[in-house]
Amino acid sequence: MKTPLSDLPPLKGPLRAEALLAWLRTGEPEALEHLWARADELRRQGVGDEVHLRGLVEISNRCARQCAYCGLRAANRSVSRYAMSDEEILECAHQIREYGWGTAVLQSGEDPAFTSSRVEALVRRIKAETGLAITLSLGERTEEELRAWKRAGADRYLLRFETSDRALFQRIHPPLPGRECDRLGLLKLLRDIGYEVGSGVMVGIPGQGFESLARDLELFAELELDMIGLGPFIPHPDTPLGTSTPPPSADQVPATVDMAFRVLALARVQRPEANLPATTALATLDREQGRILGLQRGANVVMPNVTPLHHRARYSIYPNKASSNETAEQTRLQIDTQLASIGRSVAAGPGHSPAFRRRIREQEGAPS
Ligand code: SAM
Repeated sequence: MKTPLSDLPPLKGPLRAEALLAWLRTGEPEALEHLWARADELRRQGVGDEVHLRGLVEISNRCARQCAYCGLRAANRSVSRYAMSDEEILECAHQIREYGWGTAVLQSGEDPAFTSSRVEALVRRIKAETGLAITLSLGERTEEELRAWKRAGADRYLLRFETSDRALFQRIHPPLPGRECDRLGLLKLLRDIGYEVGSGVMVGIPGQGFESLARDLELFAELELDMIGLGPFIPHPDTPLGTSTPPPSADQVPATVDMAFRVLALARVQRPEANLPATTALATLDREQGRILGLQRGANVVMPNVTPLHHRARYSIYPNKASSNETAEQTRLQIDTQLASIGRSVAAGPGHSPAFRRRIREQEGAPS
């Protein structure tokens, strides 16, 4: 559909689903140029020109879940499993500190070996030894665990709701036997506990229609997310979704880097003061330009991978992941060069989002 720029709704957020739908569907190059420029402008106004680097540590690829999209799913026997020791994780945190970055992101499958008390002790040690901000992305955990980790010093939690289409979500993300799965409820809980909260979606999941994607974008604003992570769905051959081809449909969202950029730019319109990463999935589908274009179309965060190389390739949520063969040092130099080429610089400090800082100020009753 070629809706001309003059017929599209103005990019003043938060937009409602109908307006978002028009922007998701337009094929007009002039309209897209306008969207990129507006997202870049809103990014500058909302979060500034500096880019926050978060050191990503993929602490375990063991997972109890059976997500139909993810290469780490329990039923995938062709992946060799690993879990990092506490000492290895601490070493990574020290490396992040040495690089001058402000945050360690600990991510994993749902691995029962990372018990509540173990993660709590780990968070306390990282805080005490490095002073880094800590982001956890360990899946759906109990309220007691989430509270204990916050008390121990964790700052942020990332949990994508993946898609707002409930029927599709239930198909691709089965609950653990006897348990319920309510990611939107967990996001609200995380916020009440005091975390800086991140969520997001995959773009182009087989069966994902444009209307539900517009609803995803509406939800980013309704949930008042502090961080939004999104990327294209990338089929993994050892998963049910990686082998089934969706029936051809005009409503199927394409799993392309271009559609993911569009969703990223609209996410910036929805949440000008949130932190938005240029994700690895973007860099995976466009090795040369994915990260840079992401930073020019709304993103202000990069999450360089510092997982030790001997584990890295095994965190194969999807194939051919960017940066899976390069050392943290190589990635660091590459990012520094890329940022310099677009006139952006690396931020110092923990890099909480202005959205979160505003919320805390308002809760404390101080004038904003
Ligand atoms: N287990 C935690 C969770 O589910 O939140 C964190 C790890 S999980 C692997 C991190 C994210 O990877 C998911 O939220 C999902 O969006 C993304 N992901 C998984 N499989 C993917 C695929 N095939 N293509 C693109 N992204 C994928």
